[in-house]
Amino acid sequence: MKRQTITKHVPMRTCIGCREIKPKRGMIRLVRTGNGFVKVDSGGKEAGRGAYLCPNTNCWQDGLTTGRLEHTLRAEITHENRKQIMEQGKTIVGG
Ligand SMILES: [Zn+2]
Repeated sequence: MKRQTITKHVPMRTCIGCREIKPKRGMIRLVRTGNGFVKVDSGGKEAGRGAYLCPNTNCWQDGLTTGRLEHTLRAEITHENRKQIMEQGKTIVGG
């Protein structure tokens, strides 16, 4: 671990669950791929429209079940797709 003595500009993102603005680095990105499928972007570098969530179960619940994800990504998310996102989220969030 290198020590950082200078605080550089930290990219901030809004969580679609709790709506709090937090450093992008600690958040999980969801991306809408070219075919309209939404998935967890574990590397954070996938091309496409993105949405961010805290690594927090409540945020995933809120973000995925209240239509905010669809709104943010301007995507139609199928029941199956939503289930897959939740499953991926569980492995990351841990519960
Ligand atoms: Zn959150």
